[in-house]
Amino acid sequence: MIRNVTNDDRTAWMCSHCGLPHDGGAGIPCPACGRVGRTANVNIVGEARVVVTLAGKVRDPTLNAKKNPRVKFELGQEINHKTGELVAKDRRVDRRLDRYWEKIRDARGRFVMWVDHKLSRHRGHGSAKRK
Ligand SMILES: [Zn+2]
Repeated sequence: MIRNVTNDDRTAWMCSHCGLPHDGGAGIPCPACGRVGRTANVNIVGEARVVVTLAGKVRDPTLNAKKNPRVKFELGQEINHKTGELVAKDRRVDRRLDRYWEKIRDARGRFVMWVDHKLSRHRGHGSAKRK
């Protein structure tokens, strides 16, 4: 039995006994079988998004911890904080090549961010702070 369901256009009431669509109020007998009791079919329309990201680091074991990782990368999808849209990201921090790279495309494949510059000149965009 489903209770506390708003009887709006997403709710289809039917007889709990014979299944006849039945929009009469609670306690009104079914016009077909004469029994009382209704069941609501509620369609909950939702959205589920799967965000897939591949992230990794490349270390050079011959260098000390301060100089590692040599390369950090994130490749995949993320939800844009401002728009709530799913975007495709390609973010790399490469200390071997002294390069910072961040390319983000929206759902239509247009670049919404294109950053490609020397890591030594990079001043950080939020999470990518350097010490
Ligand atoms: Zn019925």
